[in-house]
Amino acid sequence: MKEAANFIEQIINEELEQGKVTGVYTRFPPEPNGYLHIGHAKSICLNFGIKEKYGGKCNLFLDDTNPAKEKTEFVDAIKKDIEWLGFSWDKETYASDYFENIYEFAEQLIKAGKAFVCDMSAEEISAARGTLTEPGRESPWRGRSAEENLALFRDMRAGKFKDGEKCLRAKIDMASPNINMRDPVIYRILRQTHHRTGDKWCIYPMYDFAHPICDYMQGVTHSLCTLEFEDHRPLYDWVGIELGFSPKPRQIEFARLNVTNLVMSKRYLKKLVEEGDVDGWDDPRMPTLAGIRNRGVPPEVLKDFCDRIGVSKANSEVQISYLEACIRDYLNANAERAMAVLKPVKVTLTNYPEGVSEELDFEINPADKSGRTRKITFSRDIYIDADDFSLDPPPKYFRLKKGGYVRLKSAYIIRCDEVVFGKDGQVEELICTYVPESRSGADTSGIKVKGVIQWVNAKTAVDTEIRKYGYLLNDEQYPGQDFSERMNRESVMIFSGKAEPYVFENSENTAYQFIRTGYFKRLNVKGREVLSEIVSLKDNFNK
Ligand code: ATP
Ligand code: MG
Repeated sequence: MKEAANFIEQIINEELEQGKVTGVYTRFPPEPNGYLHIGHAKSICLNFGIKEKYGGKCNLFLDDTNPAKEKTEFVDAIKKDIEWLGFSWDKETYASDYFENIYEFAEQLIKAGKAFVCDMSAEEISAARGTLTEPGRESPWRGRSAEENLALFRDMRAGKFKDGEKCLRAKIDMASPNINMRDPVIYRILRQTHHRTGDKWCIYPMYDFAHPICDYMQGVTHSLCTLEFEDHRPLYDWVGIELGFSPKPRQIEFARLNVTNLVMSKRYLKKLVEEGDVDGWDDPRMPTLAGIRNRGVPPEVLKDFCDRIGVSKANSEVQISYLEACIRDYLNANAERAMAVLKPVKVTLTNYPEGVSEELDFEINPADKSGRTRKITFSRDIYIDADDFSLDPPPKYFRLKKGGYVRLKSAYIIRCDEVVFGKDGQVEELICTYVPESRSGADTSGIKVKGVIQWVNAKTAVDTEIRKYGYLLNDEQYPGQDFSERMNRESVMIFSGKAEPYVFENSENTAYQFIRTGYFKRLNVKGREVLSEIVSLKDNFNK
């Protein structure tokens, strides 16, 4: 028996042991009405993870019962994202593949006296549904004979009625304490072109009816969904029992993933895209898998994150700092070190010979312990970051100040002798001297410095736009507040920086750590290449 990683695997183990199931078949069931987000990654890892662990199967099941919102673009994006996470599905199925079966099962229910055609409007049905404390009222059409219902249902399919004029309802119990069991609508009339079946159908099954049937038709054993469907499980089971499904698939609910500062709702993400608040679904600030990929987060990190947060039966919110810590852990071990300055300040080393350029060794990644190095060049003219210099240093300031020493990463110790100011009083240039005996790895200067800062050689530096990001959503929230009121309008920070040419020589997806700044990668923004932040180096958000 496999060791269970969560309560769902425990259930599966028990069922296998008791012979209730002989194999495991799951499905990942997105509705193709938007791009997948990080919440979906949890469901993907769970469903495909179970497939892999138990040597079972898992389908990609596209739930396209709602023709108004679904598009092929979204289907393609969903497939790309699952593949990016490294999973493969056994079959690609669609609810619409089963429309004919679902229709036949509806007729079966009608013939058994378990469903009836109702002439009430959607509003009337909803008004008669009752409340948590009061039963609902039965439809006046509930007593129609099976023959009459069958004839009317066939007329519905044949297009003899207007949209909303009639619907098919399951005949269950208007007094059930579970409102979902109060004669739920299972088919509606809707003249809407479907992205796969075109205008073949003018009636569409409701999700709660279609889902158990589609699961059964595919041979799904465990139908995993999020907690908000717990109250729908009695209906899921009712459909399976009334239609005589054997073996009957089992629905198990788990908690949704919620992450602070991230919105996990396709509807809202779509709004951001449509209103131009972001540059498309794959904007690096988006919590979509396409956005996260573009941001430069490797799929291993997401899978590891989903593993670490686990699967539970209670809803909770994960701190975004935890996700960032997972990204940082990975990049610390895997990202190359490189140098780039966001706010360049010119430094002239007056005692360094003019017209000379020197090669120095630069360690590619101190975390990988291999000690691999590459060459960087050094000269009299360099740039450092304005943030690494202070005119008015606080106590224990270890970076550069007037009259003070600092080490340039993998190069020399320098001292700032003079500050040149521009017209507006800003620091324009730092006149410095270097200590020739202080070369990294061969330092005989005897000067002790605590600060190490990054720099780029002015002769070879590449001018580049560098982008850092804030969250799309502000932290604060109060009940009833709309997401748009939480929108952070300053979520992109743009710098005119300078980087060593090396960062443009590797493949576009290479991640770099810029010393004390963060992890970055190249990103194409409307045909222009910029350096785009993956995650900052510091844990800014752990208050
Ligand atoms: P949204 O509200 O973003 O549209 P959804 O639940 O309607 O989400 P679907 O495309 O219907 O999205 O979901 C596909 C599968 O992914 C479902 O099994 C759903 O339960 C699961 N899922 C969606 N969001 C999350 C989440 N935040 N955490 C875990 N699983 C999720
Ligand atoms: Mg949905």
